[in-house]
Amino acid sequence: MESRGSLGSTLAYLECPRCGERFAADRPANVCGCGSPLLARYDLAAAAARLPREALAGRRADLWRYAEVLPVRDPACVVTLGEGFTPLLDAPRLGASLGLSDLWIKDEGQNPTGTFKARGAAVGVSRALELGVAALRMPTAGNAGGAWAAYAARAGLPLLVAMPADAPPINRRETVLAGASTYLVRGLISDAGALVARSGARTGAFDAATLREPYRIEGKKTMGYEIAEQFGWSLPSAIIYPAGGGVGVIGIWKALQEMEAMGWISGPPPRLVIVQAEGCRPLVEAFRAGADASTFWTGAETVAAGLRVPKALGDFLVLRAVRETGGTAVAVSDDDIRAAMRLTARAEGLWICPEGAAAVAAAARLRTSGFFAAGDRVVVLNTGTGLKYPELGPPDPPVLDPGDEIPD
Ligand SMILES: *Cc1c(COP(=O)(O)O)cnc(C)c1O
Ligand SMILES: [Zn+2]
Repeated sequence: MESRGSLGSTLAYLECPRCGERFAADRPANVCGCGSPLLARYDLAAAAARLPREALAGRRADLWRYAEVLPVRDPACVVTLGEGFTPLLDAPRLGASLGLSDLWIKDEGQNPTGTFKARGAAVGVSRALELGVAALRMPTAGNAGGAWAAYAARAGLPLLVAMPADAPPINRRETVLAGASTYLVRGLISDAGALVARSGARTGAFDAATLREPYRIEGKKTMGYEIAEQFGWSLPSAIIYPAGGGVGVIGIWKALQEMEAMGWISGPPPRLVIVQAEGCRPLVEAFRAGADASTFWTGAETVAAGLRVPKALGDFLVLRAVRETGGTAVAVSDDDIRAAMRLTARAEGLWICPEGAAAVAAAARLRTSGFFAAGDRVVVLNTGTGLKYPELGPPDPPVLDPGDEIPD
């Protein structure tokens, strides 16, 4: 299929990964009739012909550098705050303390709104604008609300958001600040989701909930493209991803398949490892049980708010990604998470988010268990900045009066 716009997108159609049904790409769509999320499919032969990987070198340093494999066709519809192409930092001191000599941190905390949710929001909002959507609605655990509120504001699109009443304070504030019509729900993201779903007929707004909207995954998949490009097209042994709904890990897996089809990469894929919190670990339990899908987790509780997702719509895709790449699934405690935040700040100067800290704790666990060898090249995704969570920081240092002396 020919691309039409000057961005060179080779988007061809939407496809159901469960039953194989295809849908036209250029009108708003949610899920398949069978209930599965839809995935964007491209004419990858055309993309490869138009974009040899060497041509990336001269391109803009954000995720739009991969325009041929993104869904937005018209440059006028791109809503950007400079998202993507985040640093991939070596972490030698942290690695040494964990027994991993080739440890890396992809620092998604440097994205607009401080998390990788900016990637999904940039592409999702841009595509909604391109398809003529007039208003958006979505439930969120917190950071997606903040990101979508920012990009919706920049696009001039109204947005309705519902989130748990105990979502991190920053998420409640950043969403309101950017003008989204925001509601707090005494419950979990699943309760917020039901509330937003019921509002549909009244508001007429497009349902942009995680994986009910096919394009935020396209934004998040660019993490996979960037990791390959930043390592000079040689793939790491493993990538550790803190999974809530799991969109990022499905996206990275999709990116790996696309890059292979375009001839950009070859050889065994990185093992995709997911980490969840002990207090909400539906995907970890499903992985251990050998199940194809997860069951609803009751009483979800963890300091890592982004991981407090009791049931993910794309659970079967997450489990496939982990299994087909020889990965695994790990659960860590909130104490492990707090310790990993401190350790990473002291070793590398990075205040990472609790979800990223869960991934660091998982790296330690998998080295101890022997799943990782000492020399494996392991990438931890730090999905957001710890600066968004001052309430999780250490207590105040000692306070002195102006006439006091610093103790020896
Ligand atoms: C949303 C979120 C996650 C989990 O992302 P999913 O795509 O839902 O798996 C992890 N970390 C942070 C900081 C988040 O905001
Ligand atoms: Zn289907």
